Amino acid sequence: MKAHDGLYIDGAWRPAEGQDVIEVVNPADEQVIGRVPAGTALDVDTAVRAARAALPAWAATPPAERAARLAALRDVLAARKDEIAETVTAELGAPPQFAQTVHAGVPIAVAGTYAELAATHSFEEKVGNSTVLHEPIGVVGAITPWNYPLHQIVAKVAPALAAGCTLVLKPAEDTPLTAQLFAEAVHEAGVPAGVFNLVTGLGTVAGQALAEHPGVDLVSFTGSTAVGRQIGAVAGAAVKRVALELGGKSANVILPSADLAKAVNVGVANVMSNSGQTCSAWTRMLVHSDQYDEAVELATAAAAKYGERIGPVVSAKHQARVRGYIEKGISEGARLVVGGPESPREKGWFVSPTVFADVTPEITIAQEEIFGPVLTILRYEDEEDALRIANGTVYGLAGAVWAGDEAEAVAFARRMDTGQVDINGGRFNPLAPFGGYKQSGVGRELGAHGLTEYLQTKSLQF
Ligand code: NAD
Repeated sequence: MKAHDGLYIDGAWRPAEGQDVIEVVNPADEQVIGRVPAGTALDVDTAVRAARAALPAWAATPPAERAARLAALRDVLAARKDEIAETVTAELGAPPQFAQTVHAGVPIAVAGTYAELAATHSFEEKVGNSTVLHEPIGVVGAITPWNYPLHQIVAKVAPALAAGCTLVLKPAEDTPLTAQLFAEAVHEAGVPAGVFNLVTGLGTVAGQALAEHPGVDLVSFTGSTAVGRQIGAVAGAAVKRVALELGGKSANVILPSADLAKAVNVGVANVMSNSGQTCSAWTRMLVHSDQYDEAVELATAAAAKYGERIGPVVSAKHQARVRGYIEKGISEGARLVVGGPESPREKGWFVSPTVFADVTPEITIAQEEIFGPVLTILRYEDEEDALRIANGTVYGLAGAVWAGDEAEAVAFARRMDTGQVDINGGRFNPLAPFGGYKQSGVGRELGAHGLTEYLQTKSLQF
């Protein structure tokens, strides 16, 4: 794998201030595949200065020209799709087909939506005797996780560029090669020097320095709720804008009138894809007690099929965390029906697709985000009970409702405390706002809602 030994700052790859590096490891075979610089607070400062210097010109660039750069960026990403997929497979362990369609395909589509939105969004509106200007917030500090490494970068960088903001990106330490490839694509797309800057490094060093930097106007963070809480506190103290996309424990509610087999099969696939490392995964399946045993049987059969196909989880540390949760599920009395804590392979950080039945709503595996291929199946007695269980966690990121009648599913979805609900297996929409209720976050990404996160308003009265 190609790795740059510098940081992309002010339009060029430059050496980092320090000598420290981060080793990038392939989670499928535990081989080191590259080394990238571990940037420091000094590097972050250089990058923020470059972004600030580039801000006035980029903010004043007509939206049509910003749209043209975003269209060029989409085209470069599309031309390098195979390379993106290979890089994500190498550093995250994603199976090649999934890497192509989702890890490479989705961000290309999202970049395309922002090329269009930049060209068509109204950056000015009339309200009575006022003209309201929607202006870029300024310099953005973007901090991203490893689970969808390119998607999470594009979901921040594309709307920020469309809005006229400049950025410094600190990607996850486990997946910096995808971020370097993205920086090359930004460069090839002709985005002016300093508008986008990349500092690889540790979260507690480079990430923290970026979140705390007084030259950053908005911190946009995707990652764990624990780190999000810290970043929110730092940003709050500085009266700085903050957007947080955090964890989830989403409910897949199967109402009695639903097509049970379909709902269970799609539900299992949703949890197992990306080895369960999806913040919006439907990790709690809620089934009526009359259909419970049948659902458990269906889920067991469906999960067993993923044994050979599933990729590893991202790191040894994460594997240990997921296995710890599986052990906790057993010790707290849930019934393990498939999978378990043992590692299914000699090499690589794999976790067996795991399903727990007889899960009660209050136990740890029904409340905390596991971020691995682990499904919990909970029983409900009636719709009110299902709603209480569905809404009974600190999270509220996504969810699903299945029913024979679409209106019945929608009526239930309206009562869920969550940011997105898929009705009878509804398709992913790259323009739909994505983000959390409750402790799943603050703000929305994607589409026009994602764009407005990077804008602030000024009213002119006439
Ligand atoms: P993490 O919070 O440990 O890391 C995320 C990013 O923050 C990384 O770039 C990391 O280096 C950085 N970071 C770590 N400590 C920091 C600090 N003190 N200051 C500043 N930056 C810091 O999370 P992770 O383990 O990489 O990702 C998994 C988590 O992310 C899961 O909980 C998952 O639900 C969540 N997630 C949420 C969404 C969403 O859109 N809501 C999407 C993906 C992942």
